[in-house]
Amino acid sequence: MRFSKNVAKVQPSATLALSAKAKEKKALGMDVIDLSIGQPDFETPKNIEEAAIKAIEDGKVSGYTAATGLPELKTAIIDKVKADYGVTYKPSEVIVTTGAKFALYATFQVLLNEGDEVLIPVPAWVSYVEQVRLSGGVPVSVDSLDGDYKVTVDELEAARTPKTKAVIINSPQNPTGTTYNREDLTQIGNWAVKNDIMIISDDIYSHLMYNGHQFDALINISEDIRKHTVLIHGLSKSYAMTGWRIGYALGDERIIKVMSILAGHATGNPATVSQYAAIEALTGPQESVETMRKAFETRLNTIYPLIQAIPGFEIKEKPAGAFYLFVNIKDAVQSTGFTTTEDFCEELLDQKFVAVIPGRSFGMPDYIRISYAASLEDLKESIDRIQSFVSGKA
Ligand code: PLP
Repeated sequence: MRFSKNVAKVQPSATLALSAKAKEKKALGMDVIDLSIGQPDFETPKNIEEAAIKAIEDGKVSGYTAATGLPELKTAIIDKVKADYGVTYKPSEVIVTTGAKFALYATFQVLLNEGDEVLIPVPAWVSYVEQVRLSGGVPVSVDSLDGDYKVTVDELEAARTPKTKAVIINSPQNPTGTTYNREDLTQIGNWAVKNDIMIISDDIYSHLMYNGHQFDALINISEDIRKHTVLIHGLSKSYAMTGWRIGYALGDERIIKVMSILAGHATGNPATVSQYAAIEALTGPQESVETMRKAFETRLNTIYPLIQAIPGFEIKEKPAGAFYLFVNIKDAVQSTGFTTTEDFCEELLDQKFVAVIPGRSFGMPDYIRISYAASLEDLKESIDRIQSFVSGKA
């Protein structure tokens, strides 16, 4: 079979592959603790579920909506963005999508021509590289050389070529939880404007900030920067709504218009029932978002020192946001006699039933990503198991 050349280049999602293996073991009755997947372990808040049920009972959900989403939902998004960022968008500058994943996919499809380069600071969420490839673009990894997981303008400038079309800024970042501050973002934003490079600002974790750290945004730094930015966001992470598949993008109305045409042919509207749930999520009580945020904060503060204490595990600094720890386990891999991080992770799952993701798919092979979107009890138990795995092998 001859597949299209864009698809032939694409790799499967490592996070999904590993968590599929963890799920298989769980289904066989094994006591698996799955720290591999980026999904809150909470139920969607009750008021949101009830709004969805009401929309069904009221007979509102059987039909299509506009491909770009219900007008009421767009208004709710505009209001939320205004409240969070202090920036006002018009309805023509907003599209509701089937998850933030499709917002990103559509952005790349719309912006990139064959051979256009996209700068991706490493480590990076696994799907950026593959989505850029699927659009015929060329992903260009940019390392943060001082090791703080944040790229500087000098590093971006060194990677820039006449083909550079866009840069992705994901803050708080998956997999490290690192955030860019206002000064970092101002420099990057001004550099992008000067060189006419689009910024794709993936802010999906912006509400999950801990220990007094504040989220800083790109779009409210200057009008020029806003015009060069496509803001990507969604409800999956902060509202525990991964399964509902609601994301959104805001940006220049010419870009949003073409994204809407693409969405019209590719997905049509995101599920109507999910859109009604999303209206409630954005306009209803927000206490549950804070309750979940606090739970993540407690987990981070509890497990961070415990993981650091595992021999051969090293974390640079306590992350400010998201719900992941990105841990350098090079020394542990060596002391336990494994050749690669992948072998270590595989054996950890087989022997101790703990699933974590090898860092190679995020661009850093000596690392693992541990998601703390799991109960404190499970987190503590999994750390005990990892500890006994490391000391048993050493
Ligand atoms: N962006 C980042 C950085 C993510 O980690 C994820 C999900 O893991 C997404 C986007 C996509 O989220 P969704 O499609 O569930 O809205």
